[in-house]
Amino acid sequence: MLTAASKVAAIRATYGPEELDALAIYGDVHSALESIGLHPYIETRGGLAVCAYAPDGTLVVVACQDALPLRRRMLMGWHVTHVPEDSNSPLWRCIVRDTTPDDLCCDPPGDLRLDALSEAISRHLATCSHTAVEEAGA
Ligand SMILES: [Zn+2]
Repeated sequence: MLTAASKVAAIRATYGPEELDALAIYGDVHSALESIGLHPYIETRGGLAVCAYAPDGTLVVVACQDALPLRRRMLMGWHVTHVPEDSNSPLWRCIVRDTTPDDLCCDPPGDLRLDALSEAISRHLATCSHTAVEEAGA
């Protein structure tokens, strides 16, 4: 079985210009996820997101109201989900954090702080009923 680290290494090896651009723009998010023990990578299929494997192989997806914008100042908030795998129809989906404003036209941006983002993700993964604790050694 592939570990989270080796899966991400394989994904990173296929990065093209689009992924590298995104990594430059969202490098701080990438680092924040890495600092809480996850294995992040840039996802561009179906729109830009920063994804990260948890040690148990489940996936955290950091996006905005939809895909992440390529211009960082267009970012209106974080919408973070936790899913079992990279799939269009996952068996379950937890909303970990959503700071996107209700009205994207007129409301000010939501909370964009990365420390609060990391903390919410750590807290979720520690308490999520879907997280398979016995595989944490992966
Ligand atoms: Zn969860």
